[in-house]
Amino acid sequence: MNKDLKDKTLQDLEKVVVALGQKPYLAGYLFKFIHVQNGREIAGISTLSKAFRTQLAEQEYFISQLKVVDALTDRDGSAKYLFELADGERIETVLLPEEERMTLCVSTQVGCPMGCAFCATGRIPLRRNLTAGEIVDQVNTVEEHAGRITNLVYMGMGEPFLNYDAALKSIRILNHSAGKNIGIRHITISTSGIVPGIKKLADEEIRPRLAISLSAPTDTLRSRLMPVTDKYPIAELLEAVRTYQAATGQRVTFEYVLIDKINDTITHAHLLVKLLRGLMYNVNLIEHNPFTGCEFTGSSRERIQRFASALKEAGVETTIRFRMGRRIKAACGQLQAGYHPRKQAKEM
Ligand code: SAH
Ligand code: SF4
Repeated sequence: MNKDLKDKTLQDLEKVVVALGQKPYLAGYLFKFIHVQNGREIAGISTLSKAFRTQLAEQEYFISQLKVVDALTDRDGSAKYLFELADGERIETVLLPEEERMTLCVSTQVGCPMGCAFCATGRIPLRRNLTAGEIVDQVNTVEEHAGRITNLVYMGMGEPFLNYDAALKSIRILNHSAGKNIGIRHITISTSGIVPGIKKLADEEIRPRLAISLSAPTDTLRSRLMPVTDKYPIAELLEAVRTYQAATGQRVTFEYVLIDKINDTITHAHLLVKLLRGLMYNVNLIEHNPFTGCEFTGSSRERIQRFASALKEAGVETTIRFRMGRRIKAACGQLQAGYHPRKQAKEM
């Protein structure tokens, strides 16, 4: 069994505590120490008896801690954190401060196996899944530097639904009222379209907001940009979205990365509206972030505005996400986790 106490829900901690012959309520003290106080050392949990702390340490329980290798801040306020994991692997996390929100974009895998053609993370083969503790600790550690995180998006490195159990467990931990208590409506999980994951989540008792990275209105075009389409065609994907929507009553966000003359014509916009008819949704248009070796050019702002206008005229709620953190390569799809750390640091 994994002995990392940060990797455990309150219920898991109760089991640990009871198995050691202690009263279950002590799990609450542990949970609070780790997730409210962002505590790291078992020895520092003053609410537990010294004997119990010694017992935990003797049983080799510990509280994992990500190592901050680098933290870059952009003039626009966004920040990118480069973390090293216990086994030396590296991941990135991005903080996006807005007026009333502090949104953290967390990673769920080291690398990503999905191979989307426009994404820098997709160039890094999957090295491994993160544990729930490693996902949670991205929040705990950034909070120590930057203050309270109010919103979470699972849009960093990796495909959350290919690491379903750990992603969901991290949501349970971060949402729990005895811990960080981040509202479930303030948590968004973004997927490239892993149909079984969407359906499974629809049946959970805890259901975050869902975002689907669509980026094309037809299977032919989408499969060129996002190979996942070959396995789960758009029709199947939208069926799963309908199931999620029926179960939750929530509006779904579709993300659409605009690539010059590939998926950004008015015809594409009209096809998109037709495709999504009948769903409750909004669209986030994302300005493509360039990276070395990418064959695509992002659409100009003018083309993005035209695409947005076509959607809005059709009554679709549309938001344009212009690049944040561009000077530190901290935006969506640019996270490469220190595979070129020197190059990135120089660009500040
Ligand atoms: N794997 C999940 C979550 C991480 S990707 C997913 O694909 O949804 C998060 C978002 O970044 C996705 O919407 C993706 O389409 C977008 N993205 C990927 N590469 C990008 C790039 N180069 N520029 C802008 N957005 C990008
Ligand atoms: Fe993976 Fe998402 Fe990037 Fe596609 S867009 S390669 S699924 S991280």
